[in-house]
Amino acid sequence: MKTTSINPATEEEIASYNRISEETVKKKIAKANEVYKIWKKTSFNDRSKLMHKLADIFESNKEQYAQLATQEMGKVIEQSRKEIEKCALICRYYANHTTELLADKVVETEAKKSYVTFQPLGVTLAIMPWNFPFYQVIRFAAPALMTGNTGVLKHASNVQGCAFAIEKAFTEAGFPEGVFTNLNVNSDAIKTIIEDKNIVAVTLTGSEPAGRSVSKIAGENLKKTVLELGGSDAYIILEDADLEKATDLATFGRLQNNGQTCIAAKRFIVLEEIYDDFLELFTKKMKAAKMGAPTDKDVYYGPMARIDLRNEIHEQVQQTIKQGGKLILGGKIPNRKGAYYPATILTDLKPGMTAFDEELFGPVASVIKAKNENEAIELANNSTFGLGSGVLTSNSKRGEKVALQLEAGNSFVNKLVSSDPRLPFGGIKNSGYGRELSSYGIKEFVNTKSIWID
Ligand code: NDP
Repeated sequence: MKTTSINPATEEEIASYNRISEETVKKKIAKANEVYKIWKKTSFNDRSKLMHKLADIFESNKEQYAQLATQEMGKVIEQSRKEIEKCALICRYYANHTTELLADKVVETEAKKSYVTFQPLGVTLAIMPWNFPFYQVIRFAAPALMTGNTGVLKHASNVQGCAFAIEKAFTEAGFPEGVFTNLNVNSDAIKTIIEDKNIVAVTLTGSEPAGRSVSKIAGENLKKTVLELGGSDAYIILEDADLEKATDLATFGRLQNNGQTCIAAKRFIVLEEIYDDFLELFTKKMKAAKMGAPTDKDVYYGPMARIDLRNEIHEQVQQTIKQGGKLILGGKIPNRKGAYYPATILTDLKPGMTAFDEELFGPVASVIKAKNENEAIELANNSTFGLGSGVLTSNSKRGEKVALQLEAGNSFVNKLVSSDPRLPFGGIKNSGYGRELSSYGIKEFVNTKSIWID
């Protein structure tokens, strides 16, 4: 069996990769466990040196990696370059800060000495998506490996070129064989992998169905999970917002990564005083955004990652229209090769309609009118998801008050939600659980251990 990478801009085959057998998977996991016993005894300083080397490799191979990501999943090339830069940033963050993030914490008790210490757990499985094919993997691997764990990766089938490039980068940086391993398997193999006695924990970034399935198997095997699933992030645009800024942010927020970001702005909830003006300007900017080959200059957004995903979002748009939603812009599959879908705007939406309830993982914006601030908050929270959210206003105190009432793992005022290694990242409700990044993320896959000396 092979995995084939198809360029979504041209529908041409790029390369194919042999899937590995169950027996090889077992061997690779056993190797990861064997090397774990040595790796966990290395110092933070030694691991840090390797992590800095990995960052150097990302920096020196930026163009090559960016081209690969763009070819495999269609991201606009400049955004792919930024993704690789962010990988280097994450590696350096954990290389520089793990000693302090995982320092023992003394707790005063009646003991002679008592403290909390953080120890690695073993081999962690990461199931990762295609939308940030380098970054999502490094966001998991940098903290996990700095902790002293080893990692095995099951990457999305359409980005195996990136998966192997990442594995090679770890080897070139000098990480011992088995510290980071790519397993080219399909998702049917996941059950056996999670059941493997050498796997201690699982992290998944991807869709809700994948999250449900993985957490069920992990639960049956009593293995810890972190899930970063989808979102239907609401951005509330208050009547005092600067419309020029708000519509720039809304356009970029909805179209970046060709609309395929878990924390993208998806539902725009606009107060009625400015609704018409917002919609007019937003429609103008979405219409002006140039769709095209992701390697071309001046292109604002490229194709979606796969034809089936493009067809799926078109189906969601059609369903919403049948339910009474109004199509303001886009909504037609273009007559050209590639998984292209145009910038689309839907209005007249209410809870119960597809575009309100479901995640729209593509360049489709839902614009919703609210009578006042309270109704806007209610509409924003009327979602099974709770990943990111935002508030746009010229009054930052008011923005903060609203942000605190939003049911989401991240609420940003006057800025698009983005991940930052210094802050925790993750969701609530059906967007998953657990956190990545910062001191919170690095402690997800450790044994938080109490030591008492009497
Ligand atoms: P999936 O959730 O199907 O894929 C993500 C990863 O999970 C891939 O490695 C995939 O492998 C694997 N996977 C899929 N199903 C299972 C399963 N049952 N058990 C174990 N692993 C599984 O995402 P899609 O590619 O299908 O994208 C569809 C939807 O996923 C989007 O509409 C969006 O809602 C969501 N999504 C969210 C992302 C996020 O950042 N939160 C990122 C990507 C997608 P394989 O590729 O081999 O199927």
